[in-house]
Amino acid sequence: MTDSTSKVRVRFAPSPSGDLHVGNIRTALYDWAYARHTGGTFVFRIEDTDSARVTPEYIAAAVESMRWLGLDWDEGPEVGGDHGPYQQSERIDLYREWAQRFIDNGHAYHCYESPAEAEERVARQKAAKAPPGYDGHSRNLTPEQRAAYEAEGRKPVVRFRMPEGTTTLHDLIRGEVSFDNALIPDFVLMRADGSPLYTLAVAVDDVLMKITHVVRGEDLLSSTPRQIAVYRAMGVTDEQTPSFAHLPFVMGQDNSKLSKRHGAVTIGQFRADGYLPEAMCNYLALLGWSLGDGDREEFDLQEMAAAFTLERVNSSPARFDPKKLDAINGTWIRRLDPKDLANRIVPFLVGAGLLADPPSATDLETLAAAVPLVQERMITLGEVVDMVGFLFISEVTIDPDAAAAVRGPDAEAVLKAGIGALEALAGFSATDIEAALRAALIEGLGLKPKNAFGALRVAVTGRRISLPLFESMELLGRDATLARLRAGLAALS
Ligand code: GLU
Repeated sequence: MTDSTSKVRVRFAPSPSGDLHVGNIRTALYDWAYARHTGGTFVFRIEDTDSARVTPEYIAAAVESMRWLGLDWDEGPEVGGDHGPYQQSERIDLYREWAQRFIDNGHAYHCYESPAEAEERVARQKAAKAPPGYDGHSRNLTPEQRAAYEAEGRKPVVRFRMPEGTTTLHDLIRGEVSFDNALIPDFVLMRADGSPLYTLAVAVDDVLMKITHVVRGEDLLSSTPRQIAVYRAMGVTDEQTPSFAHLPFVMGQDNSKLSKRHGAVTIGQFRADGYLPEAMCNYLALLGWSLGDGDREEFDLQEMAAAFTLERVNSSPARFDPKKLDAINGTWIRRLDPKDLANRIVPFLVGAGLLADPPSATDLETLAAAVPLVQERMITLGEVVDMVGFLFISEVTIDPDAAAAVRGPDAEAVLKAGIGALEALAGFSATDIEAALRAALIEGLGLKPKNAFGALRVAVTGRRISLPLFESMELLGRDATLARLRAGLAALS
């Protein structure tokens, strides 16, 4: 295993065949934290050998998501480094070179099995209840047999000759894990068209990029003995082999593997819904790790990096709990400086068509005044559209259910009395408004506080549930408030 005095080099190596999901980001976060904790190097590598599924758009989105989360890298896309390129599609020649070397030194061979023959083999193995996988047919072809296949025009794949014995790795999270090599069939390194497969590319890159620690998801544990065999074929000794740490699966609430069925799982979706990057990092860090500081659950990236060790990563599956993420997001929203929060809200209001792009100075002032009210109650930035939308429209559209709930003679009386009270007001602060309305409706009309304000709220905001009413009126100002109450009088009487 890696010498503990050597500089740590840890990589995050996604194959973005879609937007990065919760599991990817948890891996990236642990990779980053391990590199930062040890003063090592964080390498970001794009594994795009499956070019049909990994598109330039997904790669760009992955890079952008990492930036958004604040997971900075020392080598990789945009920043370069001494061991690049960091995108596998730009390293194809290296993989071909190594595949050829393996053929030359006997670690790999050309395999001529046709798709039809592969199908037959699978059927045969099934019938005989034999373990599936390649049967080694092309392992030891004579030059004549090879020439005959070539003459038929068959295009071979390059297959790795899996050695006999046992592969044992000392996983930093799981402890010792052993694999019987006899159960691992010879595997393909290179397709017939000369394109490399993951197992070849990942091993070549880890070696050439001098990776010391492979910290990644548990789904890749079973591919590790194949990778170690390729390292060995490259001349990497046991001591030089990277240390492995396989992170626990992330499950949904029902204990099945987290997927779209469980709601939002991609980082783009969480971002669009208005989760903060601070909260995403904080919550995802808790999926398999804890700060160990009296179980304190709120911490930022720097605190995580300072405390992060692989020893404290849990080996049992973690469960993704959207409610807990909400709670943590709410906490982070409340921690923000109100100016910062306002800036983060703007794109959501612009996106909803409530603010111009760029917003007017007056609208920004209104927003700044509304922020202290929403900051206490928001769970996501996205929610703010419903909460403060009424401030940025010229006319309220009253929600039909809300109208039905308050419409009638009482509403008429309340609105008339309310308009009278507010017209007579000198100042228009929430306190002035509250005092005037209480006097007019509770003392004047003898209404219970519970019933007094519903019609006013619906007239002013269009909804039954909104920000505190008197503050909302103050934010709107006298003219707009009275105009809405008068329109409400017509609509709700
Ligand atoms: N590119 C692989 C994937 O996204 C991970 C490679 C690795 O970490 O070894 O599944």
